Formats: sequence, C-alpha cells, structure tokens
Amino acid sequence: VAKDAGRKRFSYFTPALQEAAQNRLRLANDLRAALGAGQFEVHYQPIVELGSGAVHKAEALLRWQHPTRGPVAPNQFIPIAEASGLIIDIGDWVFRQAAAQVGRWRAALHPDFQISINKSPVQFRVDAQQGPAWAAWLQSLGLPGNSLVVEITEGLLLDGSTDVAARLMDLHAAGIGVSLDDFGTGYSSLSYLQKFDIDYLKIDQSFVRGLNLSSKDMALCRAIIVMAHELGMKVIAEGVETPLQRDLLAEAGCDYAQGYLFAKAMPPDVFEAWLAEQT
Ligand code: C2E
Ligand code: MG
Ligand code: MG
Ligand code: MG
Repeated sequence: VAKDAGRKRFSYFTPALQEAAQNRLRLANDLRAALGAGQFEVHYQPIVELGSGAVHKAEALLRWQHPTRGPVAPNQFIPIAEASGLIIDIGDWVFRQAAAQVGRWRAALHPDFQISINKSPVQFRVDAQQGPAWAAWLQSLGLPGNSLVVEITEGLLLDGSTDVAARLMDLHAAGIGVSLDDFGTGYSSLSYLQKFDIDYLKIDQSFVRGLNLSSKDMALCRAIIVMAHELGMKVIAEGVETPLQRDLLAEAGCDYAQGYLFAKAMPPDVFEAWLAEQT
C-alpha cells in the first residue's frame, strides 16, 4: 500500500508541473539580476477624491521589464521575490523611488501629495526598524512622514509571531499612513480593525466589479463605508472601471477611487501629462 501511495504521489508531478517549477526557477534567477540591471520601474496610479475629482494621491506599482519575456506581472514575480528573500532589496528600492518621486510631486503638483507603497508581509516581518528608518530617510529628503502611506494586507494582521501593532505604531509615530489593501478578501476578523491603527481601508476590486443599484455587492460596499467612517478611517475603492461604479460609490460616501476608469498605473512623466489633461 505504501509503495502504491508513493507511486501515486509521484505521478502528480506531471510534465506541466515540472515545467512550471522550472519556469519559477528561471524567473527567480533572472529576478536576482533585474535590480542591478535596471529592469524595474515604478509606475503610479492616480487615487481620485470622489467629492472634488482632485488627485493628490497615487499608488506606486512595480513593473518588471524582462529582457526576453517583456513585461512580467507583479502577481507572477512578487511571490517569487518573497520566497527568495529578494523582496527586501526590491522593497527598499521601491521605497526610495517613491520617496524621491513624492518629493518632486509635492514641489510641482500639490504640497500635500501622498504616495502609497505596497509592503510585502515578508518585508514587514523582517524589518523591525522600518518606522524610524523610513522616517529618517524622508527627513533627509526634507519630507514629512505623511508623504507616504504603507499598504498592508489582512493576512499580516493575523500573524501572531510579529508585533504588528507595535510596528504600525512606529509608522504612525513617524507620521506615515497605513492602508489596509484588498479589504474583505483576507478572512480576518473585523475586530482587527479596532485593534490596529489604520488610516485607509481599500475595498477590494472583487466587490466593486459587481456594483449596481440592487446588488449584494452594493450592500457590502455601503456597509464597509459606514463602518470604516465610524471607526475613523477613509475609504478607497479599487478597480473602478465604469462611471456607474464611480457614481454609486460616491453616493454611498466613498472617499476615494482608483481604477482604469480614471487611469492605469503610469510612468511619472505620463502621470504628469495625464494630470495636466484633467483640468
Ligand atoms: P494591489 O496593491 O491590490 O494593486 C492593485 C492592482 O489592481 C494593480 O495590479 C493595478 O494595476 C490593478 N488595477 C488598478 N485598477 C484596476 C482596474 O480598474 N481594473 C483591474 N482589473 N485592475 C486594476 P498590479 O500592478 O498588477 O499589481 C498586482 C499586485 O502586486 C498589487 O495588488 C500588489 O499586491 C502587488 N505589488 C505591486 N507592486 C508592488 C510592490 O512594489 N511591492 C509589493 N510588495 N507588492 C507589489
Ligand atoms: Mg495596493
Ligand atoms: Mg488591492
Ligand atoms: Mg492585491
């Protein structure tokens, strides 16, 4: 029986799985060289204030231009970067890019411009000094902490092994904002919202997609917005693609929206040209 089970288990390792494993390995190798070779770029997606239409915020989204494959999606390479530990160096690089960018945009676009950065739970766990270190870096650029917002996901809040609350407090002490990304998809309990100090709640795009006047997604979005406001948080809707979705969210009191209806993530110069066109 044992032999049978062993053979059976082995048979699960099909050529397709082997191919996928090799592909991962190749990507992991290429990823190691990518930072030094200048293959990464940070693009910025506007975050629109629904009441006024103003754009004083953007999310930094990493882009990898692979020399032979072309663009590789973050959902494909971030997990590999996390598994190999490369995410630490990559995350630091994204942070420095975004810090420099927000300095330029505070001077050129709006004095309160704010950029949010996605922080991998892997990086969050390893780096106990992130609050003070980031604050010191911003200070060296002459920027206040509230120039940046850190986006974390619910999974991190469930992590009992890291003192997540203390690290979030460090970020806040430095003035850096905290945003809860992909809200509603992480199986975390609502009690986490009062346990941790969070400034922005980002409604996951899976709830925004199904929005219409009578849908259950509409009821969920409304409830999330009311709850977030009661707890002192601002709400950002992700993945807004249609004017109807925008209008329903605005009517429900949602503070900000982000999505292809407004713009995709863009290189800084394209972002500036886009913004100039809006007015
Ligand atoms: P996320 O932080 O939830 O980012 C939102 C994703 O939705 C982005 O995908 C964005 O391009 C996409 N998006 C925005 N508007 C729309 C829309 O209207 N419709 C649709 N269908 N999609 C929209 P992207 O850039 O491919 O990034 C995927 C994920 O990879 C991000 O999800 C984030 O978790 C991760 N990621 C991206 N950049 C970084 C980074 O610098 N560091 C880390 N640790 N993770 C990153
Ligand atoms: Mg995000
Ligand atoms: Mg998200
Ligand atoms: Mg995501």
